[in-house]
Amino acid sequence: MHALVYTDTQKLIYREEKNPVPVNGESIIKVSASGICGSDMHAYHGNDNRRIPPLILGHEVSGIIDKGKEPGKKVVLNPLITCGLCDYCKNSREHLCVKRIILGMNRPTERQGGFAEYVSVPDKNIYELPKNLSIKEAPIAEPCAVALHAVELGEKKLSKPIKDIKALVIGAGAIGLLCGLIQSKVKNCKDIVIVDPNNKRLKESLKYLDAKGFKPDSKNILSDYFDIVFDTVGLETTRQQAIKCIKPGGIIIHIGLTQPSGTFNFRKTTLQEITFVGTYCYTNKDFEKTLAILNNKEIGSLEWIEYRELKEGSLAFKEIHDGSCTAPKIILLI
Ligand SMILES: [Zn+2]
Ligand SMILES: [Zn+2]
Repeated sequence: MHALVYTDTQKLIYREEKNPVPVNGESIIKVSASGICGSDMHAYHGNDNRRIPPLILGHEVSGIIDKGKEPGKKVVLNPLITCGLCDYCKNSREHLCVKRIILGMNRPTERQGGFAEYVSVPDKNIYELPKNLSIKEAPIAEPCAVALHAVELGEKKLSKPIKDIKALVIGAGAIGLLCGLIQSKVKNCKDIVIVDPNNKRLKESLKYLDAKGFKPDSKNILSDYFDIVFDTVGLETTRQQAIKCIKPGGIIIHIGLTQPSGTFNFRKTTLQEITFVGTYCYTNKDFEKTLAILNNKEIGSLEWIEYRELKEGSLAFKEIHDGSCTAPKIILLI
């Protein structure tokens, strides 16, 4: 099969690879579309110790079952593979499974990803494509589930309804935009600010999201003002902005994985009772709920997604890397 293989830092090669071999309890999916995620970008930059080259990246996947229980069925994949046996799995918190692995990772165990013609996946990770969602758009379900999980984690901790709060979203990539869209369109939040240093990308997001948009250094972003801040970037500077802008008693939802450490205003966190919440992936229930949200078109138009051919994938990575791509999401079509 053809695949886009991550071979070295900032290097992807479209080449011939061995087809996946059928395994008991799994199906082989003929991939239709596969989204490029921020975490694929971290791998591309050599910053992910769970994704070591050579490896086929990609975990936001839709396609058609080729070999397995229901050949010909159109599907979307939940790429988070869990053991089903541990305490987390048994208590509907599968995303914290001690043995979790995601498609397109090879540490601690290997799972080739979806930037390929075929991918093997456990049957329990396969969901029927919702009627009103095109197979091209369907990979958006994965980042959308990440955003839904993040928003609902925040919602649980807020002291008032989400429709009455002021929210700040840092980063206008797919996760930032999706966090904004879910708050605005699904949860009826009316007061959202989104920030991004890339003006073009910010403008693109604001075509779809009812929010105010600013560059991160804008004086319009007030300190001690927001009930909730989503840091979808995870840089030292974005965390500093989150802690500066959060109001007493507020909630910081930390999703980005860009910089693992740095300084933080623990004094403000303590004196102002700030809640800092890390969030990762989604539960199976979140994934199912996301498919329903997408099927009902609750987050509106998905025209902000840009599509490229798999064989042009290397260029897409390059353009995301150098900021010349303004689309919040690129999906590769196979
Ligand atoms: Zn992703
Ligand atoms: Zn488990």
